[in-house]
Amino acid sequence: MPVNTQKYKEIRARLGEQVKLVAVSKMQSVEDIKSLYDLGQRDFGENYVQELLDKQQKLPADIRWHFIGHLQSNKVKFIVPIIYLIQGIDSPKLLAEVNRQAIKSDRVADVLLQVHIAQEETKFGLGAEELDVILERSAEFSGVRICGLMGMASFSDNMEKIQNELQFLKSLYEKYRSQGSADSSFSLLSMGMSSDYELAVQEGSNMVRIGSLLFGKRG
Ligand SMILES: *Cc1c(COP(=O)(O)O)cnc(C)c1O
Repeated sequence: MPVNTQKYKEIRARLGEQVKLVAVSKMQSVEDIKSLYDLGQRDFGENYVQELLDKQQKLPADIRWHFIGHLQSNKVKFIVPIIYLIQGIDSPKLLAEVNRQAIKSDRVADVLLQVHIAQEETKFGLGAEELDVILERSAEFSGVRICGLMGMASFSDNMEKIQNELQFLKSLYEKYRSQGSADSSFSLLSMGMSSDYELAVQEGSNMVRIGSLLFGKRG
């Protein structure tokens, strides 16, 4: 499936300078990623560790790789040396492991905390209380920089429901930003995918993760 160049330009124009676009390239070929790269795209999102490592070897070194899905603790060590942003810290245990591996590699890993916002589905993510605890203790994690929050709304036709979930995430983001419980690098709100990115941007997202609109359906 060739990259939809027209759509890419349209989305970039719509997002403007304020909203970062992460092109979700999971299950897409190296060739297709390269064609988006040639149009100027630098941020790509993957959610399988081995696939990410293979692609990272084959593609230009200035690509910023985002890990966007559920990350298993035992795989953290493989991606810490090369990852730009780990979106989707969905448990305290995972955060602790990223911290440990980052310190071991003499790095500071940039991460987003994934919040569970979808009401009906069981999606990965932290609850509001866990989020509180982690952000209160963030100074203890010297190997990690918590750069913001990430979330996925329900897969649903009910726009009002999706909107409520996005607004809830935005309100948590504002709360921690204004509380100063997080440091100044807390500045990213990653929400919005192919199906809901326009709504997400309207509700205050400053980072969207878009796959199928750019690459066509996966698989
Ligand atoms: C696959 C995926 C996306 C992109 O989904 P599309 O519907 O193809 O835009 C965004 N975020 C996460 C976490 C994903 O796993």
